Amino acid sequence: MTDCLFCRIVQGELPATVVLDTDRVLAFRDISPQAPTHVVVVPKTHYDNAVELAAADPALMGELVAAAGQVAETDGRDSVRLVTNVGAEAGQTVFHVHLHVLGGRALGRLG
Ligand code: AMP
Ligand code: ZN
Repeated sequence: MTDCLFCRIVQGELPATVVLDTDRVLAFRDISPQAPTHVVVVPKTHYDNAVELAAADPALMGELVAAAGQVAETDGRDSVRLVTNVGAEAGQTVFHVHLHVLGGRALGRLG
């Protein structure tokens, strides 16, 4: 059994509110939403972060972004922020690559 939280969600060992499920990508609502739409989009295969994923499988990185677009459309958002934290200092707490899809309210400037 893996101790990776998002691998465990992918494997169905932990519950999640799934909004999109494809061959290689799963999207589910963030447990602590920071906006009316706050979904995390993950590959079903484990990579620690977006840089590692893009180096290993750039097409899968593209699938994550495309999935984020579908999630936005499902929630009726024509404007979303896609965020991916790379490394603890940047705020990454779950070391399984994910895109945050944030929308439904005015989002401030970064920084
Ligand atoms: P990050 O801090 O960028 O690594 O993002 C991790 C995200 O995962 C945070 O926004 C958490 O709220 C979210 N999260 C943690 N546990 C769960 C869970 N069981 N289901 C859904 N989202 C989660
Ligand atoms: Zn994982």
